[in-house]
Amino acid sequence: MPLHDFICRGCGHAFEALLIGKEQPLCPQCGSPDLHKQMSTFASRTASKGDGSGSGGSKCAGCAGGSCSTCH
Ligand SMILES: [Zn+2]
Repeated sequence: MPLHDFICRGCGHAFEALLIGKEQPLCPQCGSPDLHKQMSTFASRTASKGDGSGSGGSKCAGCAGGSCSTCH
């Protein structure tokens, strides 16, 4: 489902909108089309909550302890 999170730059209102094609959503609060589109939060959470050995996780691959303070 093409559901995206947006934050209105005009009033700061956060909302979700269904994007169909190239439709441009408007802020439901102030009607502004000036929106900041966010990455879908549920997708990034799913990717980062893995076992840590896969790709795309938040842990560094070369760091056994899970802390990247020493390897960057
Ligand atoms: Zn707004």
